Parts: sequence; structure tokens; C-alpha cells
Amino acid sequence: MNASHFLCLAAFSAIGAIAVAQTPSPLPAPPDRAAVKRMFDPWRPATPPRHLIANIYYVGAVGVSSFLITTPEGHFLLDTGFEDTVPIIQRGVEQLGFNLTDIKFILSSHAHIDHVAGHALMKKCTGARVVASAGDARALESGGDDDYIQWPKDTVLYAPVKVDRIVADGERIALGGTTLTAHLTPGHTRGATSWTMDVTEGEHVRRVVFFSSATINAGTLLVNNPLFPDFAEQFEGTFAKLKALPCDIFFAPHGDQFGMTRKFARLDRGEKENPFIDPDGWRRLITAAERAYRAQLSLERSLAPR
Ligand code: ZN
Repeated sequence: MNASHFLCLAAFSAIGAIAVAQTPSPLPAPPDRAAVKRMFDPWRPATPPRHLIANIYYVGAVGVSSFLITTPEGHFLLDTGFEDTVPIIQRGVEQLGFNLTDIKFILSSHAHIDHVAGHALMKKCTGARVVASAGDARALESGGDDDYIQWPKDTVLYAPVKVDRIVADGERIALGGTTLTAHLTPGHTRGATSWTMDVTEGEHVRRVVFFSSATINAGTLLVNNPLFPDFAEQFEGTFAKLKALPCDIFFAPHGDQFGMTRKFARLDRGEKENPFIDPDGWRRLITAAERAYRAQLSLERSLAPR
């Protein structure tokens, strides 16, 4: 895998390496405040909004994705980024010729500050209904307080938001001829959710996956973790599910996870085939995430007292 293809993983590994130098444990330690800031700040600037394929648009900041899925009866918004990146989404939606107040559903890839901190403000601006899995609803309604992540508390908290609809695994949300299906893929957060939909391009129906993320947050133990006792089992189920998902096109919470820069450049060059059609890239992404998970699992088991 290209390391830059998986930003979360690269960033977390780097932080882990720094922490390892200060602690006797070979396991990544949680980042300190300065490290979290160094990671988050480059993700906040604006990038132009753009059409991706069919009724799917990118309206996020440069390093944290937000996807607008439009329909004649209103729109879905997947992820809102940080609270201060909400104006980027607002401008993007308007530049693309849509109305912010036509957003009917706010969804999440996973309930971490860099993807859902804008939910409360966006809900206020649009009146949209917030949809989440039960696991992530706990985090969203507590403003990130109910999360197992071991990072400095003030770096992971955000404005709490009331969840209007809880979705179960396989549940569908339909609006204006578009149906999004929730796939619970817990691990990165308790309720991390991958979403799928189909798009039609000419004669082809393409299966689209919006990936939830499946990295292990630095400082998190997979084994004997009292905050998430069945962590490893949940991750096993998640990888099995992700590997079984039919996928022609994938998007992700961070651009580097789906080759955004490279694919946007190909889009700009007007390449005939849509650059987001990338089933091999999807397989590489999941393989790399699973490999990282298995590496940490073996390391933890090798360190566990016998
Ligand atoms: Zn995250």
C-alpha cells in the first residue's frame, strides 16, 4: 500500500513512533495536545467543491471529507467535519447550485471530532435530521465524552447533538429515489458506519461505498481493554463485512484514504473513465487496514503476561 493512501494510519503511526521513544512500551501511546493540533490543523483549509459521480458531490474541507448526495426531494450530507469547517460546506453546497436548507439527513462515517463536530451547527442551519448507529449516537449526544479514545479529553470533545434516528445494520434510508444503506463497521469508534448506495452511469450500475475508517486510534488496546472489552471480536466482524461488500467506487472520511488528490486531478484532466471507479484501490485499503490491525493484535498478544 502507498503509505500516503492511508492518512489516519500514517499520522497515527508517526505519533506512535514519537511516543514509543518516551515510553518502554512498543505500543503506540496516545498523542499529546500539540500532536493532535499538528494533525488536525492541515485538514481545516477549504478546497473547491466538486461533482464526483451521478448525484454525489464533495463539499468538505481539504483534509476532512463531506459528501453531498442530492435528490429532487432534498439531500443527504455525510459528515460535517469540524465546527469551523461548516462554512466551507455551506459555501460549497451553494457554489454547486444547491440550497443548504434542502439537506434533510445528516449522516456520519464515525463519531470523531473531525467528522461530526459540525453536526450541531449544521442541524441548526438546516433543520435536517441526524441519523446514527446506536454506538455512535452515544458519542454524538455526549459531544464525544462517551468515547473510548484515550487522547487528551479537550482534543476530542465537540458540541453535542441530538440524534433523531438510530439505524441498525442493513437499515436503509430512502429519499427522492436514492437509497443509502447503513453497514455497522465498529472498531475505529463503537458505532463506525459504512454507507453504500448504487449509482447509474450510462448502462452501468456502480456500487458505491462510503468507508467508515478502520484504523486503531493510537493509545488504544485491542486486548484486555476495559473500555471496549470485545474490541478485537468487533474488528474481526468489521473486516469480514468490509471484505464482502461489493464495491466499484469508494470514498472515505479523509482524502488520502481514497486517493482524492490524484483522482481529482484525473477528473480535471477529463479522463474518459471516472477515476473513482477503483475496486482494486478498495481492496488495497481494506487489506492494509486489516494488516495493521493484525500486527497490533499479535504485538499485544506477544506482550501479554502468560
Ligand atoms: Zn476518526
